[in-house]
Amino acid sequence: MTLSVVTPMYNEREAVDHFVARLRPVLDRLDEPYEVVAVDDGSSDATVARLMQLKTDWPELRIVALRRNVGHQTALRAGLLAARGDYVVSIDADLQDPPETISEMLAAAREQNVDVVYGVRCDRSTDTAFKRNTAGAYYWMMRKLIGPWVSDQAGDFRLMSRAVVDVLNALPEPRPVYRLVVPSLGFAGAEVPYVREERVAGTTKYPLSRMIRLTFDSITGFSASPLRIATWLGLLSFVLCLGLIVTTLVAWGSGATVPGWSSLFIAVLLLGGIQLICLGLLGEYVGRIYAATQKRPPFLVALDTARLDAARPATVHPPAAETTLDPDQFAVSA
Ligand code: UDP
Ligand code: MG
Repeated sequence: MTLSVVTPMYNEREAVDHFVARLRPVLDRLDEPYEVVAVDDGSSDATVARLMQLKTDWPELRIVALRRNVGHQTALRAGLLAARGDYVVSIDADLQDPPETISEMLAAAREQNVDVVYGVRCDRSTDTAFKRNTAGAYYWMMRKLIGPWVSDQAGDFRLMSRAVVDVLNALPEPRPVYRLVVPSLGFAGAEVPYVREERVAGTTKYPLSRMIRLTFDSITGFSASPLRIATWLGLLSFVLCLGLIVTTLVAWGSGATVPGWSSLFIAVLLLGGIQLICLGLLGEYVGRIYAATQKRPPFLVALDTARLDAARPATVHPPAAETTLDPDQFAVSA
């Protein structure tokens, strides 16, 4: 199979018809074997039911339903593990990533002989100002912490070769942040620009809390520098305290001891605050180590239509109702 298109979907009932209507012609035009892996991330609406209906007249559509909502990146992981294509494209289901770009990506991968083709947003004007600013801050911080190779315009719309996907699937990390992991692997890459469109229907599934979680995963997954910052904060406050001790001793020696309530209070609060921040930082890492040692499965697959298709006896194809007999055929042998 040449191509797998992996699409995580969470409560995308309103968007799914638009998505399929635009994706299918693009893929059919490629004239190569493909599959679309729609990963249902534990939707509570009728996404799966609608996908099952759509599958009846689009056999290339494959549905992998997860048992519960595990988040975009983990749903993507489930899709990458399920994908069987020589090339795998990950794309959002809300048509913010234009499906037409997929054929450009495939052509670029072949012509330039690269393993990754990044979809690079050349225009985000349809995103809200809040989204653009938070995304800007996120990528700025990641570049500072992780390295200059983090592109500020590359999200999760990209094409990867089988070699890349195999490396990703073998990662022991429970929650890899793909948009950072993929460029960090160092595979040869190319870029294809695209215009970020507006969400076709429904609402964003990335509220602030999820963005914060992605940020924490991104930082702790790549860098221990926050811990180093904590050490520097500790050193700084230690030096400040030394200064305070000297001042206090001098004041005491010269008999100028004042009540000093304010300075004491500030010092206690400041130190307490810094210590709590550092403890929290440490906790973030310890929590992740703990989760990693538990080795729980990050997701469970409830349904994979590819397995159903494989298990179905061959005699069912084509369906009996559609079989037409040609009387002439029998006439010859009779
Ligand atoms: N998504 C998912 N699980 C989640 C949240 C989102 O699979 O818990 C999917 C969602 O259906 C969409 C993609 O991830 O296909 C990107 O989400 P969304 O468009 O809501 O994010 P935004 O574009 O607003 O950042
Ligand atoms: Mg979106």
